[in-house]
Amino acid sequence: MASQDKASPVNVKLLLIGNSSVGKSSLLLRFSDEQWLPEDESSATIGVDFRMEVKGKKVKLSIWDTAGQERFRTITSSYYRGAQGIILVYDVANRESFEALPRWYSELETYVSPSVVKIIVGNKVDKEFSRQVSYAEGQNFAKRMNSLFIEASAKTAVGVKEAFEEVVAKIIDTPELWAPVGSSKKSKNTQVNRTAGAGAQTSRMPGTINLGEGQEDEAYGGGCSC
Ligand code: GDP
Repeated sequence: MASQDKASPVNVKLLLIGNSSVGKSSLLLRFSDEQWLPEDESSATIGVDFRMEVKGKKVKLSIWDTAGQERFRTITSSYYRGAQGIILVYDVANRESFEALPRWYSELETYVSPSVVKIIVGNKVDKEFSRQVSYAEGQNFAKRMNSLFIEASAKTAVGVKEAFEEVVAKIIDTPELWAPVGSSKKSKNTQVNRTAGAGAQTSRMPGTINLGEGQEDEAYGGGCSC
């Protein structure tokens, strides 16, 4: 473990899910670029790789957005594979998007291990005047689902950094999600961006995502094989 701390980063894969238009892409864009695109210019879909340091550990973070698959209820199982953290987003000014969360959780039950870290993000808090879901409701639901909770705004940047950082910190606190399991079995579940450098790298993702393989370092596997 000590050598891992020095040498290779922990590979962390996070996914954004939630109804269409709740602001998933905007949150990712805000986190990666500290940018805000005005309405109608929101980028369709991106995946971003970062390097960061969390709790003294080097982390290579890949965040995946849905490519709009959720519109057609066709999120593929491969999208979920190898994820250690899930960011479930709803829009505080759109009750329907909050009420859709149980459906997203049942999908998670199918595709990811229960130990995967989840955070619910109530986005668009800048629209306080048209809020339809209270903070308490969001928080209580998150508690019931054993998930972290935060409200945020991709528009004003409130809560955005914290949302991503909290998930990663909890993942780092859960070594079973990333630590070597002692077997020589190579994880094939991790998307690897060999060109990732310092800071964020943005790449367009195809509608149906193929998780790559070919991880060069089996020591940090990059995810549960759930
Ligand atoms: P996605 O379909 O979940 O990825 O949602 P998008 O990121 O494409 O955002 C959908 C719409 O909501 C766009 O018009 C965004 O400009 C807008 N939007 C996203 N986040 C916020 C926010 O925090 N506040 C406000 N007011 N609008 C937002």
